[in-house]
Amino acid sequence: MPLSKQCAGCGIEVARQDCHRNRYGEYICRSCQQTGFRYTKQKKRQYLLVRITRYALLGLAFIALAGALALAAYVLFDRASSPPAPPAAAE
Ligand SMILES: [Zn+2]
Repeated sequence: MPLSKQCAGCGIEVARQDCHRNRYGEYICRSCQQTGFRYTKQKKRQYLLVRITRYALLGLAFIALAGALALAAYVLFDRASSPPAPPAAAE
């Protein structure tokens, strides 16, 4: 039983080997390809949004990590450069 996919352009079912999968994960049949159809705008926007979100999250994670490292370095250097606190006087 051959796999069939729904064309994103015209919506008909086509065999997997008779269609092209674009970068957005859509399947485009041969006749749609010949008319110059490559992708749907909706899918492209969704794809770009996912990418932007992924990079934004990655950037935020990097900033948080850099901040945590800077804080750790600051605490370590602060402790190394200042003498230990004198013991509390017992009464
Ligand atoms: Zn089609």
